[in-house]
Amino acid sequence: MNERTKKKLIAEAIEARKNSYCPYSGFAVGAALLCKDGTIFRGCNIENASYGLTNCAERSAIFSAVSAGFRDFTAIAVVGAPKEEKAESICPPCGSCRQVMAEFGNPEKFTVLLGTESGTYKEYLLKELLPLSFEL
Ligand code: ZN
Repeated sequence: MNERTKKKLIAEAIEARKNSYCPYSGFAVGAALLCKDGTIFRGCNIENASYGLTNCAERSAIFSAVSAGFRDFTAIAVVGAPKEEKAESICPPCGSCRQVMAEFGNPEKFTVLLGTESGTYKEYLLKELLPLSFEL
């Protein structure tokens, strides 16, 4: 994936973050999922008064893509921070999201970009973030 694509994906995650529904935690997260054919799906965290029903931005993006018939994914960008603040620190995905990424992405190839609004980012392969994923 070239630098331009990485920056584009992070910019999409920053846009997705604007739709975050996070009245309980006040922590807004956006994600952008890149499909093999170049299609991008956005996702945001969606909280619920029954906290356990909350869905993360990463899973929102993946579930949107799968619902639309896409299953071949190349990378995901994630950007998160308290709602009223600029996202200046990286926001790593939770364990549940890492496991869901492993369901659809090859851990040896699937790239996770942890972006910030200042333009810096960290890049990982899924296998680095989830070395022993559950498999059937
Ligand atoms: Zn998560």
